[in-house]
Amino acid sequence: MIDGRLGRREFLEAAATAAGAVALSAAGAQPAPVIAETSPFDRAMRWGQLAFVENDPGRYDPQFWLDYFARTHCDAVTLSAGGVVAFYPTQVPFHRRSAWMKEGMDPFGELANACRQRGLLVLARVDPHAVYDDAREAHPEWIAVDDKGQPRRHWANPDMWVTCGLGPRNFDNMTEVVREIAGSYDVQGIFANRWAGSGMCYCETCRRNFKAATGKDLPGPGADDPARRDHILWRRQRLRELWEVWDSAIRSVRPGARFIPNGPPGLESATRADFLAVDHQARRGLTPPWDFGRSAKQYRAVMGRKPIAGLFSVGVEEAYRWKDSVQAGPEVRLWALDGIANGFRPWFAKFSGVLYDQRWLATVEDLFVWHHKNERYLRNDTPLARVAVVYSEQTRDFYGKDQAEARVDDHLKGLYHALVEARVPFEMVNDRLLEPADVDRYKLLVLPNVAALSEAQCRSLAAYVERGGSLLATFETSLYDEAGAPRKDFGLRDVFGVSFEGQVDRRMQNSYLALDAEARRTHPLLDGLRDAPRIINSVQRVRVRPRGEFPSPVTLIPSYPDLPMEHVFPRVETSDERQVYLTERGKSRVVYFPGDLDRTFWEVLSPDHGRLLANAVQWATNEDPPVIVKGPGLFDVTAWRQKDSLTVHLVNLTNAMAMKGPVREFVSVGPMTVTIRLPAGARPRRAQLLVAGTSAKADEARGAVTVVVPSVRDHEVVAIDL
Ligand SMILES: [Zn+2]
Repeated sequence: MIDGRLGRREFLEAAATAAGAVALSAAGAQPAPVIAETSPFDRAMRWGQLAFVENDPGRYDPQFWLDYFARTHCDAVTLSAGGVVAFYPTQVPFHRRSAWMKEGMDPFGELANACRQRGLLVLARVDPHAVYDDAREAHPEWIAVDDKGQPRRHWANPDMWVTCGLGPRNFDNMTEVVREIAGSYDVQGIFANRWAGSGMCYCETCRRNFKAATGKDLPGPGADDPARRDHILWRRQRLRELWEVWDSAIRSVRPGARFIPNGPPGLESATRADFLAVDHQARRGLTPPWDFGRSAKQYRAVMGRKPIAGLFSVGVEEAYRWKDSVQAGPEVRLWALDGIANGFRPWFAKFSGVLYDQRWLATVEDLFVWHHKNERYLRNDTPLARVAVVYSEQTRDFYGKDQAEARVDDHLKGLYHALVEARVPFEMVNDRLLEPADVDRYKLLVLPNVAALSEAQCRSLAAYVERGGSLLATFETSLYDEAGAPRKDFGLRDVFGVSFEGQVDRRMQNSYLALDAEARRTHPLLDGLRDAPRIINSVQRVRVRPRGEFPSPVTLIPSYPDLPMEHVFPRVETSDERQVYLTERGKSRVVYFPGDLDRTFWEVLSPDHGRLLANAVQWATNEDPPVIVKGPGLFDVTAWRQKDSLTVHLVNLTNAMAMKGPVREFVSVGPMTVTIRLPAGARPRRAQLLVAGTSAKADEARGAVTVVVPSVRDHEVVAIDL
């Protein structure tokens, strides 16, 4: 195959000669893609953002930016218009014009109009979160108030005051601003940064409105204040009202233009947006390398096929806020690539029109030029994943509370990392969207300690299992209701087949899991663990009582002393207390781990735990996977169907700096063998490697195509034309 183009006949010949091809079937084929409704936002595949600083007007070079937007094939740009500082000749009171704007200047308007002339969509950026002394003197009711009743100075800029996000500053004053901008300029919408207030506000408006809505006083700083949940829900409701007020104001003067919040009030409310930009600019500290992709999955779970941009930074994003810095190119690139592989449209964000360090320019340009060239393979219709992880914002808010990271996020991260290591393409599902239309495209739903679930949500999950879906859950899943109140027994007790025994062990020191000798030889759950009669246990466990018969591949070896060394021997050699509960009902399989195996995996990263989780996912899925990737290394694997093609992304995370950035250099890995199960009726015509820029030899056998990728530096996309 010199040019990689394969006729049907060649494919059949290749299939006939393919040795050792992986057996894949078309079972569980994906539904045919539906063409998404086109909104103006759907046109834009690449976004650029220039956020002005106050002294940009007259100092920065607009032509440089117009050229750069052209070189990067940006279809849309976001430009600063107003809020804290106005970059256009505003008439709204207290909307302070840039001190560098001379009479007759209109820096926003000039750049916006030039972009429109070149056919780019323009979003106007506003930021309402701070005002100056003059506004505070005239409108003290605009200012946020702390829990001691004091108006809040800006934490980073003592010349300014922090505004209340839920009162007249936003509802009245900023409404005038967004209406003025949308009425004066040909914008597709207004993008508001820091629009939702800056933490808890105790101003008079907030006190009065909260009391009227709930009959309660505002909660104090404690996470367990009974009014806390009311406040979270009330605040989101106010922000949805504000969204509506601004959106209506914008549409009243420019039909078709929209308000685009930076961060919706609650994930569920993202469903109302035509388009969103998800602001997750970079890694910091121990952020995992796949976390931008995780954001994409999380938002796609509520937005569906509507366009979503992933807003990334080109700077170093640590707590010290070096906003004028430039991050190492490979780190910026890998972060952005993982977002793209997971369905984000890339959006670069740069502050300051005057550049102190130009090193990022080539990084973004290289990436965007490639993205433009391969755009038809990046307009995804449907993910091919058959596994989905359930994400529950209410579990985070009302069960996790101020410990959400440890009690909720770390479970998700552990499961997420295990799936990435196992190269399982997967999606996420939002716990508010559990109807058949949302979940039946998946064979397996994974619930990493999704503790807080309503009765209705539990019924939806049980019905999914009744329809043949599989479920994998850990730890306290469904042991709390939607408000975070503990239940006497699991909401999913019938699905798990176990009942709560009333106790959760929060720290098990020196405890192990016994792996049954017979099961190690025969049960897929213990694949790769044949030589391991025992492995370390998780750290916490829910004590449960089985409600029926279960196999016992994995049982508890209880904690025993870890000091003095003379006493370090198990007091109980084996117990009959299972640490995994496996159920088979027709096509459906259910796995329940009473331990916090996912969270412990994230903390300790034991390969035994990773393997156990991956095996459990495969056993529960109970069908051939849509994609199998063989070869060395750590990859985030995603798989998609487009209008006339299938793609598999391999994001190469194999790196000394994988788990703590920034990445300094890429480490090429390969060869990788990629086998893609073909959807029913799909006829492959051609295989390409979109990053290498080459065609590929593709062998078709038993409903699957196998492509060898010789080497992956940072990213490869196997594209199969149908
Ligand atoms: Zn307030």
